[in-house]
Amino acid sequence: MSWKAIQKENFTDIEELAAFLELPYGTPLLKKSRFPLNLPRRLALKIRKNSLEDPILRQFLPTEDENVPSGHKDPVQDISFQKTSHLLHKYAGRMLIITTGACAMNCRFCFRQNYEYGPGGDFSQELQILSQDETIEEVLLSGGDPLSLSNRRLEILLEKLALIPHIKRIRFHTRFPIGIPERIDEAFLALLEKCPKQIIFTLHVNLAEELDADILLALKKIARLGIPILTQTVLLRGVNDKVEVLKKLFLTLVNNGLIPYYLHQLDPVQGAMHFEVPMNTDLLQALHAELPGYALPRFVKEEPFAKGKTLL
Ligand code: SF4
Repeated sequence: MSWKAIQKENFTDIEELAAFLELPYGTPLLKKSRFPLNLPRRLALKIRKNSLEDPILRQFLPTEDENVPSGHKDPVQDISFQKTSHLLHKYAGRMLIITTGACAMNCRFCFRQNYEYGPGGDFSQELQILSQDETIEEVLLSGGDPLSLSNRRLEILLEKLALIPHIKRIRFHTRFPIGIPERIDEAFLALLEKCPKQIIFTLHVNLAEELDADILLALKKIARLGIPILTQTVLLRGVNDKVEVLKKLFLTLVNNGLIPYYLHQLDPVQGAMHFEVPMNTDLLQALHAELPGYALPRFVKEEPFAKGKTLL
């Protein structure tokens, strides 16, 4: 089955998901949401039945907690850094292409859930801006999830980026393989392999339980091409805000050749404030005492208008 066919099987109907997971009667489901349910079957199969406490479920189930009117629509002030609606320039030497609004899954805490993505295009305006700014050495492909684009569209984009001499690195920000590892197909690997620029992956993963043998194998196929795979994790209340949970995640990552890069404090986005963990560095200090340094990511917060991520 192709990854696109698998994606079409995602749970998008909340009643259907509630029945599949045998959710308790009276669960305060958010039946209508501007940011709809979108959950790959692979992840749904990892969720404990008849419980609202499952940490994978909590990341994807729309509930009435989202109606609490706190947080910001654009918590990291993306809008202030737009060169175009598909190109952001926040930090020195790097620009970020918003490749698409689509994802393999909709995480309830997504800081870009209110972003006005607008229609997709061929990125000609963005490529022109990038080619004219010689200070830019790295292009981040983000979204949404860049792996939502077809192999052909990604191939064309990489080919065009490869023609810009001052661009040295292309970084994919993705969570796609966590839901649909079949996305790492032969055609995708081939287009990565032939790209003459250094490619880097940053994988969003929040729990060791999100990983499985198929996902790790798909990631290994990328790593075999000489592509470093860094990871980023969002600290989420009721999901991964315990020392043991994070320790298990970071050790699972390093045991499989993945590099824990960032642990993010939640971006305070409207509708997701129930996930916020009060600022506290004790958690990291406890991890520091138990893990080798290379298994400990940087604990950071994104502050709008800072020159980089703020280290906590
Ligand atoms: S995969 Fe990333 S971009 Fe997509 S909804 Fe989740 S956090 Fe947002």
